[in-house]
Amino acid sequence: KLDVENEQMQELLHKLPKLGKIFDVHKKIGEGTFSTVYLGSLKMDAALPEEHKRWFAIKHLVPTAHPARIEHELRCLQDMGGKHNVIGVELCLRNLDTIVFVMPYIPHRKFSEYVGDMDAEEVRQYMTALLVALRHVHSFGVIHRDIKPSNFLYDRENRRYLLVDFGLAQRTTSEPPPADAPRKRARDEDEPAHDAKRMALDLSLRARGVDTVAPVVPRRTILPKVQIPKQNIPKSAPGEWPPGAGRCACAGAGGVCSACAARPAARAPRAGTQGFRPPEVLLKSPRQGTRVDTWAAGVVLASLLTARYPFFRAADDVSALAELADLLGTEPLRRTAHALGRRIVTSSRRRGLCLRKLAARLRSPAPACAPAAALACAHCRVPAHQCLCRDDTRPADVIDNSVSIAGFPDSAFALAAKLLEPLPSERYSAQRALEHPFLAAPGA
Ligand code: ADP
Ligand code: MG
Repeated sequence: KLDVENEQMQELLHKLPKLGKIFDVHKKIGEGTFSTVYLGSLKMDAALPEEHKRWFAIKHLVPTAHPARIEHELRCLQDMGGKHNVIGVELCLRNLDTIVFVMPYIPHRKFSEYVGDMDAEEVRQYMTALLVALRHVHSFGVIHRDIKPSNFLYDRENRRYLLVDFGLAQRTTSEPPPADAPRKRARDEDEPAHDAKRMALDLSLRARGVDTVAPVVPRRTILPKVQIPKQNIPKSAPGEWPPGAGRCACAGAGGVCSACAARPAARAPRAGTQGFRPPEVLLKSPRQGTRVDTWAAGVVLASLLTARYPFFRAADDVSALAELADLLGTEPLRRTAHALGRRIVTSSRRRGLCLRKLAARLRSPAPACAPAAALACAHCRVPAHQCLCRDDTRPADVIDNSVSIAGFPDSAFALAAKLLEPLPSERYSAQRALEHPFLAAPGA
């Protein structure tokens, strides 16, 4: 495996000689669908002891990535990066179709190594950092679309956080950036340290006669465009499927007419990672906004509270919806679908699970012997101490921090419910989440 990695590294250096003039490339540190990431340090630092070297993450984008996509990722990094826990870019190098982004390196571990042992205070800090990054990104009218632990790097020792990977980021159409959104130039006043660091790097590189090519936007023409085959949609007979009527005469007739069968499937952006997609994405709603990201942040919080990762395990969109129905209850999900102009049919009704009970159960398994069988839950019929049913009698907004559940204050679960709200229009924004008692007033 190391041989293969070495070969890939040599190939990259061969295709992009400039990279090797500036950096020592040490090893592969990450790999995703669209890139391979290497650890690098400045060649000029070669003689320095490890702790004094300046380290970088060198992201090599797959050559088949669409130039527009690469350009957009770079723009995101340049416009928003370098502050509020969002990764910045130091340098972009390109030769033909070989493109790398050079970014500051942050040491981090796998989420699965710490998901179960963060206490309430650490969870509070972690979620605050994530939501601060999201608030910043959203203020630019951008949806990250791939919020998950492997894109939110956590240096636990130094309590540093970085949101990375804008490969799937998208502009919101429905939510224009607020009038007071920070402008591009705001960075200069705001974050002198970062800019000074970048300038120092640029200067030191230039002083050595290295052509550093300050961030280059890749040419659009270098790669072939991806062709999406047009669907062959047969024209419906007059009256059979009036375009725009939205309802065909075959509805309720116990079958689907040929025109309906030929209707193109609903199309909507579904970029993201399974297990982190909100209902509006799974239901292919065309109305998707920044709440796509706050849902994913809710999934991360649910993982931290229950020590369960991945929190959702479904492999496809339909099973993912079934999983959501299990957690949220079939009725809330049905109402959400209705509000989004979709319909969900389920074979049985589910009441939904209580995240508090789930956390308590998953963190400390119930004793084997049932104390009082008479106390069976009326809904799921299992003994009350094992029941995970959602408690409908308790108003969602009441927070009772006098109790601690699995070591977490009640407010942590209340926030999770606000982020995992199925209806996007009611789901919390990053800003509102930051004002929630769990984050804004710990212990209250
Ligand atoms: P992809 O689009 O391929 O998912 P990412 O930008 O998410 O690419 O990077 C993939 C992985 O590389 C990350 O999950 C992380 O482990 C590592 N990585 C990326 N950027 C950095 C960085 N700045 N510092 C340290 N590791 C990084
Ligand atoms: Mg990634």
